[in-house]
Amino acid sequence: MSDKLIAKYQEMSDLTKPKCDNCFASLGPNSCCSKIACEISLQWAREKYKVDLRHLFNAAAKIPFLDSKTGCRIAPHYRPHCTNYTCAIHAFGFDKDDVQWTSEYYTLRGEIDYWEWEQYDKHEEQMK
Ligand code: SF4
Ligand code: SF4
Repeated sequence: MSDKLIAKYQEMSDLTKPKCDNCFASLGPNSCCSKIACEISLQWAREKYKVDLRHLFNAAAKIPFLDSKTGCRIAPHYRPHCTNYTCAIHAFGFDKDDVQWTSEYYTLRGEIDYWEWEQYDKHEEQMK
């Protein structure tokens, strides 16, 4: 797996996490986490990276990968749908209060897309 892709997801997490740490809706960090998003991450890590994250998955918890003190227990590349997500991007496609951040976000998204597509054929081959 591309180290560059993993590094880009970490950069993206470093960019999106502060938005949620200072949640504009005052819902608090990780308020958009959900059990189904954790389950998707579990499956993604297994299919794409051949990594079994079940030892970190607390099935009895409301949010299985969430640690109440430290936040998400798994690395950003195992949860791309969470890492790339902010409500402003989801709802409007941009952050109306932060043009610079929006520009950085889409630069990184472009780089992530590039490295994901670069891996795509390899991933398809693994799925056969
Ligand atoms: S995605 Fe939006 S609403 Fe959800 S935690 Fe982040 S800033 Fe708050
Ligand atoms: S995988 Fe992590 S960031 Fe995504 S919903 Fe679960 S706890 Fe939240």
